[in-house]
Amino acid sequence: MKDPNNQQDQQDNQESEETKDDSISEVLNFDKPDFTFVPKANHEWRQQGPYLCCKSCEVEHAVWVGTDKMLVGLDEKGQPILKTRAELGMD
Ligand SMILES: [Zn+2]
Repeated sequence: MKDPNNQQDQQDNQESEETKDDSISEVLNFDKPDFTFVPKANHEWRQQGPYLCCKSCEVEHAVWVGTDKMLVGLDEKGQPILKTRAELGMD
């Protein structure tokens, strides 16, 4: 027999938190270089200074790679291949 006071709807409040902040829906994450946008498909990475910027997702996102890294291509999984300037013989 169920106790009506023992409701199991404490399913955490993720939903209410998500609806709160619609003001920051399309902000670049340059302030949070540790933010990881989990890659689920192919991204069109372009290097812009120390950042890799993805131009193919509907929300542009970027990851910090630092000034010593150069985007040289993509591997078979679409992950960016980064080399240091030393590895490229540019130093
Ligand atoms: Zn992307």
